[in-house]
Amino acid sequence: LIQIRDVHKSFGANEVLKGITLTVEPGEVVAVLGPSGSGKSTLLRTINHLERVDRGTIAVDGELIGYRPRNGRLHELREHEVLAQRTQIGMVFQSFNLFPHLTALENVTEAPIHAQRRGKAAVRARAVELLERVGLADKIDAYPRQLSGGQQQRVAIARALALDPKIVLFDEPTSALDPELVNEVLDVIRSLAESGTTLVIVTHEMTFARDVADRVVFMDQGAIVEEGTPAQIFGTPRHERTRAFLSKVL
Ligand code: ATP
Ligand code: MG
Repeated sequence: LIQIRDVHKSFGANEVLKGITLTVEPGEVVAVLGPSGSGKSTLLRTINHLERVDRGTIAVDGELIGYRPRNGRLHELREHEVLAQRTQIGMVFQSFNLFPHLTALENVTEAPIHAQRRGKAAVRARAVELLERVGLADKIDAYPRQLSGGQQQRVAIARALALDPKIVLFDEPTSALDPELVNEVLDVIRSLAESGTTLVIVTHEMTFARDVADRVVFMDQGAIVEEGTPAQIFGTPRHERTRAFLSKVL
């Protein structure tokens, strides 16, 4: 469902992604681990073209992200075409990024109504359903400041799902949460994984990665050092750098 081929990305002289190649199958849950600064967030951001790549290609469901091939060359898509592609890719950040002046329900319905121009009544009904699914049936009319961090993050997840995305990308969705709120968010992500949604999750929650991911990818210094099943990566890591990282975080 996602095909990342030889993606390179630099910020100035700093090469942050040094040729990333990664395929994600439909329904697969991929956990991306790695030390701070290894390029995990940048990689996620290239998938929905929040960062443009310098070299290489990314395709989601067979569609090239950010570019159109024409006459043997790649031409950058227009703004509205990029936005249309982004609606197919849900993204949940560490800092929930809710609109502070909108209620939980309005946060969830905003993009489907305004970006996708879908009918209001159907969008609202679906949003209520999604908020119920993330355990917030009683918080539909609450504003973000009236919600705990865990509740805000669950609204953010419902908002991502409201676009009916083909994949959902999570960038350290629980890192900003108080420890006692982490599990309520992980439980929601776990149930998404069980329902067959294709997920890519950057996380420092090793237990969660081990339990929920189909595949674990370990990145260091802009490259994928190794990938494998959770049992392989956590049980018998092949590379010294993976071992060193895991020994620090486990
Ligand atoms: P963390 O675990 O701390 O979130 P990460 O693996 O997500 O780290 P990235 O955020 O992808 O790492 O950053 C990788 C490198 O790219 C870092 O050296 C960072 O300083 C640099 N970087 C990221 N975004 C930018 C930017 N917009 N401009 C310049 N440098 C950037
Ligand atoms: Mg990051």
